[in-house]
Amino acid sequence: MHNYAPRTDEHLSIASLLSSANMQRAFRFIRDIGGELDQELVRICEIPAPPFKEGARARDLMRRFEEIGLTHIRSDQEGNVIAERRGRSTTPSIILSAHLDTVFPEGTNVRVRREGDRFYAPGISDNTCGVVSLIAVARALDAAGFETEGTVYFVATVGEEGEGNLRGVRHLFSQGEFRSGVDAFISLDGPGLERITQRALGSRRYRVTISGPGGHSWGDFGIVNPVHALGRAIARFASYPAPLAPRTSYNIGIIEGGSSVNAIPERASLLVDMRSVSNSEIDKLEAYLRRVVEIAVREENSQRAMSGTSLTSEFEQIGNRPSGETPVDSRIVQFAIECSRALGIEPRLDCSSTDSNIPISLGIPAITLGVGGISSNCHSLTEWYEPVGRELGLSRLLLLTASLAGVSV
Ligand SMILES: [Zn+2]
Repeated sequence: MHNYAPRTDEHLSIASLLSSANMQRAFRFIRDIGGELDQELVRICEIPAPPFKEGARARDLMRRFEEIGLTHIRSDQEGNVIAERRGRSTTPSIILSAHLDTVFPEGTNVRVRREGDRFYAPGISDNTCGVVSLIAVARALDAAGFETEGTVYFVATVGEEGEGNLRGVRHLFSQGEFRSGVDAFISLDGPGLERITQRALGSRRYRVTISGPGGHSWGDFGIVNPVHALGRAIARFASYPAPLAPRTSYNIGIIEGGSSVNAIPERASLLVDMRSVSNSEIDKLEAYLRRVVEIAVREENSQRAMSGTSLTSEFEQIGNRPSGETPVDSRIVQFAIECSRALGIEPRLDCSSTDSNIPISLGIPAITLGVGGISSNCHSLTEWYEPVGRELGLSRLLLLTASLAGVSV
């Protein structure tokens, strides 16, 4: 459990905001539109959003943002959708964000099947429920007549999952329009109430390929063999003593190479995933990977030196997510804890890999929250979501947004 010391004035402001007529009206509104949110969930989920093909879902969301009265709606070069609910000033600037993409390839059946209160469909929980929460919060702020001090940006990002490599959020904070930073970034990803993700789990992924001339298993015996070298590299890599703290992991998930049992392969490759809560541990792990591959290639080359052939190796980075931490005593984390407790939610600080990795690594105050409800089988075809307790998640989000953006009560 983490200890923190809330500043008294903040504590009071959240309490008075919670009991204000406006906030209570917003909470009632959220409860009243449960059925509409269910319909929204089904409609958005049934618009496919495979990796790198989020366009249709993005266009639908632009239309919805317009309908519900958000302003300055645009999509950027990378495909992110941005809309605004302007306050009296542009600061503080608060981003509420949800990723549009799913892990499922084009052609996946995304038809939603409802059984009682449970919705079954690939992507329904990760992250259609997050996208729906953007619409719900924007509508509730309006219904309650909130006028904020700062501006709230509603952002739907592309490329959060897998090979997307956080391309949407990366763009926002590098070449995109938030490159000079914002005061708070909240990523809404999946269900649940307890977790407040303020630490970013970093990962780095590589494809390592070892290549040689290839030949006949009998006729050319004695020349270098990429598979033999790759095997040696893997054996050494797998003995790496990854620390428990800071927690670090590695996995060689795919090996490929060769074309026939009686052919010396021209190529052998592996796909490796390395993760840590610490960037420097990932650096160490990557250095070790490079060293074992170099040693394995050198051994094979020297053992087969008589043949006059040699192997080469190549590293291709296929993923890079930086790690980092939004401090527990930062305003955004303290407010998230306070708002949770004010609604009877006992929060748990958490470390995970989400869109927040990018702002966190840049020192921008960022967290990832669940939007309420329960789910299971994420990233599988049997994924389901049940909006039980969703009002509480959305109420917490409303309270947090209003607290961070500043409202007078
Ligand atoms: Zn997600």
